[in-house]
Amino acid sequence: MDFALTEEQTAIFDMAHGFGQDRIAPHAQAWEKAGDIPKALWPEVGELGFGGLYVSEEAGGAGLSRLDATLVFEALSMACPSVASFLSIHNMCAAMIDKFGSDAMKARVLPEAIPINKVLSYCLTEPGSGSDAAALKTRAQRTNEGFSLTGTKAFISGGGYSDAYVVMARTGDDGPKGISALYVEDGAPGLSFGGLEDKMGWRSQPTRQVQFDDCKIPAENLLGEEGHGFKYAMAGLDGGRLNIAACSLGAAQQALNLTLSYMGERKAFGKSIDQFQALQFRLADMEIELQAARTFLRQAAWKLDTGAPDATQFCAMAKKFLTEAGSRIADQCLQLHGGYGYLADYGIEKIVRDLRVHQILEGTNEIMRLIVARKMLEARG
Ligand SMILES: Cc1cc2nc3c(=O)[nH]c(=O)nc-3n(C[C@H](O)[C@H](O)[C@H](O)COP(=O)(O)OP(=O)(O)OC[C@H]3O[C@@H](n4cnc5c(N)ncnc54)[C@H](O)[C@@H]3O)c2cc1C
Repeated sequence: MDFALTEEQTAIFDMAHGFGQDRIAPHAQAWEKAGDIPKALWPEVGELGFGGLYVSEEAGGAGLSRLDATLVFEALSMACPSVASFLSIHNMCAAMIDKFGSDAMKARVLPEAIPINKVLSYCLTEPGSGSDAAALKTRAQRTNEGFSLTGTKAFISGGGYSDAYVVMARTGDDGPKGISALYVEDGAPGLSFGGLEDKMGWRSQPTRQVQFDDCKIPAENLLGEEGHGFKYAMAGLDGGRLNIAACSLGAAQQALNLTLSYMGERKAFGKSIDQFQALQFRLADMEIELQAARTFLRQAAWKLDTGAPDATQFCAMAKKFLTEAGSRIADQCLQLHGGYGYLADYGIEKIVRDLRVHQILEGTNEIMRLIVARKMLEARG
């Protein structure tokens, strides 16, 4: 068993970290205030190969492992969790198209998606169905030309911003087997968007409802096979959960780094606050939790990469563990900054706000426990 990163993995982390610190971190607060990530950033991210991280090399992607991809998200999230997690969604969609799309769809979509000349969003959740995603009601009716799509998707990251949407819709009966995945381009007739959601965190990326009213979708925009859309949507989520966990890890590490520096400078009762043993113990506890989280994440990623039968369970466990540890650590770091932690200039309060949603999306942490408990009961027999 070898826990060390390879030279190549270290280089991937360093490249992502350098780019994040140089091109994202200095602007993260301004983008949050503007509620906008400039579109011009994405081709720069694409040039590093981050637009198709685990899209196969034959299809023009970077062909990285899931473990390698977690290094990119951990490193980028040290600059801004909102930007890093948005990239994760794009990658999830690109990988779905690579894995399940026809050769014609791959040839049409991926040459634009991989360099991130086109940004992709993922549309599963609806106003009436979140955790119970298979109960979705958006309907795709067969027509002579393809499909007519009608319904509403809720909470869509990049809604009204992205260039295309991977949409899970009902083409058949109730339940997961009646769901298909469709590729919907911005500007499609009948496609519109709700108002901008006013959110606690992830504020630089726009979240809106995505609405379809007899939206005409050509037949060639069916992704893979009819009736398989739910399976495709769930396949993307194992990796998506690792990415979100990695985003929590990177941002919590950044909060801890900032706190370690701050505690050496801040004085109280005649000494720097890092001299209080009670506070040193808190630093140590955070370090221990972060190291445990990192090891657990990489084990789960390794399971997914090697096709281990318990990979889904490990992805769920890692997502739950890391997103909660990340938020706990960020909150502690805010506390150790005293009143300054509450001020935007110190960079901690944004991390606290950005990380909170990681416990809710890509499957809530209650659903993560559900997955784990089911597997435990199954194994018990
Ligand atoms: C900022 C943001 C961005 C998002 N981006 C996207 C996106 O890009 N695309 C997308 O498709 N979705 C997106 N989502 C939606 C997100 O995935 C859902 O909010 C999430 O799946 C939870 O669904 P819900 O909000 O309907 O909550 P509900 O499913 O209504 O859950 C409410 C509560 O009940 C709990 N619960 C539900 N069922 C069970 C159960 N069986 N056992 C125990 N507890 C249960 C939940 O854990 C939760 O605590 C986003 C959400 C947010 C907030």
